[in-house]
Amino acid sequence: MVVRQEKRSTLIVGAGPTGLTAALELARRGDRPRIIDRKDGPTPLSKAVGISSHSLDVLEASGVSGKLLAEGLKVRHAHFHAETRELAIIDFSLLPHRYNFLLSLPQRETERIMAATLATFGVDVEWRTELVGLAQQGEKITVRTSLNGEEQDHRVDTVFGADGAESSVRKSLGIEFEGYTHERRWSITDAEIASWPYEPDAAQAFLHRDGGVGFIIPIGNDRFRAVSNTPDALAHIPGEYHVSQVLRIDNFHIPARQATRYQAAGVFLGGDAAHVHSPLGARGMNLGIEDAACFARRFNDGTLAGYTDERRPVGHRWIRLSEQILSTAQSTNGFVQTFRNLVMSTIGAIPILQRPLLERVAGLKE
Ligand SMILES: Cc1cc2nc3c(=O)[nH]c(=O)nc-3n(C[C@H](O)[C@H](O)[C@H](O)COP(=O)(O)OP(=O)(O)OC[C@H]3O[C@@H](n4cnc5c(N)ncnc54)[C@H](O)[C@@H]3O)c2cc1C
Repeated sequence: MVVRQEKRSTLIVGAGPTGLTAALELARRGDRPRIIDRKDGPTPLSKAVGISSHSLDVLEASGVSGKLLAEGLKVRHAHFHAETRELAIIDFSLLPHRYNFLLSLPQRETERIMAATLATFGVDVEWRTELVGLAQQGEKITVRTSLNGEEQDHRVDTVFGADGAESSVRKSLGIEFEGYTHERRWSITDAEIASWPYEPDAAQAFLHRDGGVGFIIPIGNDRFRAVSNTPDALAHIPGEYHVSQVLRIDNFHIPARQATRYQAAGVFLGGDAAHVHSPLGARGMNLGIEDAACFARRFNDGTLAGYTDERRPVGHRWIRLSEQILSTAQSTNGFVQTFRNLVMSTIGAIPILQRPLLERVAGLKE
């Protein structure tokens, strides 16, 4: 087997939104990282659809944000309902930011735009290349990759593990992924819907007395993403509308897990490799984008030692908050429901109270 000594000695494992952001943020500063992914191209799935104001800030310098804005849909309001009674309209335009909306774009498009922009900096994603081994050896890290079944060893200085929840990088380091996975099965449906009875560019949340919840967000012209804690995601979206085509149906369990450390010597973790949590609040992909930007900034400044201390508390706070949102949203306790609905109605009626919530979803405050 040939052992290659890399000239560019930063290896990014995983070309999801986290790995691509790290590559873009390094490349725009003149570095030439390698980035590998075992898939043969960007995800074919829509996955995360909400891009935060802060992520747009992060991706501006590389030129990605303008392209995302050109293709995405600006979601300006989120309507909350108890059964069919409207409790509150959360207004993103109250955000003290030029991007005062949530940008909706399927993750496959976000990844496609990021990978194409990365190529303009001279860095191409090495698709179909899987990390199959990693070991710290003195100052260097030896990584083993497999391309079409052919294995190769490489010696690099720094590895950024952005290889998702089942991260091989994290497992190779023996770093624990503490937490749990909820038993309740959630469903997801992407569909084309005609005669939509609600505000077109707004998200809708329906909280039901039996603990069932349904969320729906536009993802394109007459296209919507519905998510629910029941088997049929659209069943908890009341109203008269016509589903003209179902594009995708899936289900998932909600995890709440975090890596006990985000780094070991020259190896760093970001995104789902470091933390996973409920999609309520649309922070998963955005937290990963922020981790990656922090990694690249610290790499550039020579301050990588402080990476875990900066990013782990942010992930921890969001996991805690998203668990609270989850349990309150699907509570069957009458007292909790009454209190929740009262709080939502009050927040809806007094716009200034919406700011703290909006700023956290937008990634402007942690
Ligand atoms: C149904 C669903 C809906 C979601 N909705 C939202 C939302 O609205 N908003 C939000 O912010 N988040 C949402 N998320 C979460 C979001 O999709 C993830 O947080 C995001 O994809 C994490 O990005 P990542 O780059 O860290 O990891 P991933 O996207 O998982 O990317 C990891 C990459 O690493 C590659 N890889 C893995 N192992 C190896 C290996 N050994 N060698 C080489 N490559 C490897 C994989 O092929 C993959 O491309 C949702 C997730 C799901 C499943």
